[in-house]
Amino acid sequence: MARLAQTAGLTDVQQEILATVRDFVDKEIIPVATQLEHKDEYPTQIVEGLKELGLFGLMIPEEYGGLGESLLTYALCVEEIARGWMSVSGIINTHFIVAYMLKQHGTQEQKDTFLPRMALGEVRGAFSMSEPALGSDVSAITSKGVKDGDEYVLNGQKMWLTNGGTSSLVAVLCRSDEGHPEGTAPHKSMTTFLVEKEPGFGEVRPGLTIPGKIDKMGYKGVDTTELVMDGLRIPANRVLGGTTGRGFYQMMDGVEVGRVNVAARGCGVAQRAFELGVSYAQQRHTFGKPIAQHQAIQFKLAEMATKVEAAHAMMVNAARKKDSGERNDLEAGMAKYLASEYCKEVVEDAFRIHGGYGFSKEYEIERLYREAPMLLIGEGTAEIQKMIIGRRLLEEYRFQG
Ligand SMILES: Cc1cc2nc3c(=O)[nH]c(=O)nc-3n(C[C@H](O)[C@H](O)[C@H](O)COP(=O)(O)OP(=O)(O)OC[C@H]3O[C@@H](n4cnc5c(N)ncnc54)[C@H](O)[C@@H]3O)c2cc1C
Repeated sequence: MARLAQTAGLTDVQQEILATVRDFVDKEIIPVATQLEHKDEYPTQIVEGLKELGLFGLMIPEEYGGLGESLLTYALCVEEIARGWMSVSGIINTHFIVAYMLKQHGTQEQKDTFLPRMALGEVRGAFSMSEPALGSDVSAITSKGVKDGDEYVLNGQKMWLTNGGTSSLVAVLCRSDEGHPEGTAPHKSMTTFLVEKEPGFGEVRPGLTIPGKIDKMGYKGVDTTELVMDGLRIPANRVLGGTTGRGFYQMMDGVEVGRVNVAARGCGVAQRAFELGVSYAQQRHTFGKPIAQHQAIQFKLAEMATKVEAAHAMMVNAARKKDSGERNDLEAGMAKYLASEYCKEVVEDAFRIHGGYGFSKEYEIERLYREAPMLLIGEGTAEIQKMIIGRRLLEEYRFQG
């Protein structure tokens, strides 16, 4: 095996795209990632490079100026990018989810308005479900959109928006009672609003405030923010798909492809941790030989590589299932769950292999150690994945007795 995490059956175009992205990661991201991360600095130059590579439009159909590539191609690119720096994959992830939701559910006018500029990276997307009081329990959302003539008036507070400051289009999930009588199931009275705004912080549009960056333990560089709506007026033609009450399903569809994406990030970070661990283990000597020659360390490397391979295989399987047009919530949930748990374990082992130096900010593994936990939370925690997996298993293996 030349390298871990190879993917069989890729087309020439896919191989070419991946080789280009890998080269970009090695030359433009890895050499600067740790320094930028320690300063919590937005990677402006890297983002310009991603634009030039066309990565913001990777899955946007060609008729809108994108590359029209599959979820698999996208996920494999994300894996490469996260291998360089997970935050950079976060910058394109919410953009990709919003573009996907527009492609799948938007009206023709919404697609024509946003997708061409999104493909160029001129309009950048963020998506917002979470609120201060909820993340897993989306049905408890309290932000509200109320119809007023040809507009909706939005009020409420949102939490944890990745790219909340740098984006110019936010897909915001709110409750909208209009047309949904009292007693309607919570998930049937939710609507996705397409909120356009200026990038930046403070009052970015009348009635809309992005207070500032949340200070995080890792996943730095990329901005994560709150969003406050106070009488924010949105025209009725900015309801995603033109009809209220479909927001929950639209968001869940977006999150499903997002889960493949988070799995891919876990694969990329784990690969990098393995590369760092296997390299260090051959350079550090104890008791007269490289530590890689101690069986305990070799066993660690064997376990790490096996986890990298297994996570990659599950992530590729989940992406291919979605690309084939089939429902993939079971596979995406499993891939996200396994890849994020394995990523945390592989990073922990690489950290241990580094001994005391792993604790020093001079070594890249210190950054990975602070980044891996985010994958256990984003796009649904491990418990939520297991709930999805469990429910689907009971559907598939219904007792017939
Ligand atoms: C860096 C970062 C970026 C993020 N970016 C975004 C974004 O762009 N957009 C967005 O909308 N959100 C975003 N999120 C929010 C993220 O999706 C939520 O944090 C996540 O869904 C968990 O929700 P919570 O934090 O409210 O935890 P809670 O839902 O309060 O859960 C707390 C704990 O309880 C467990 N738990 C909850 N319910 C159950 C249950 N029924 N059974 C068993 N255990 C349960 C959870 O697994 C967890 O361990 C981001 C979060 C972070 C940290």
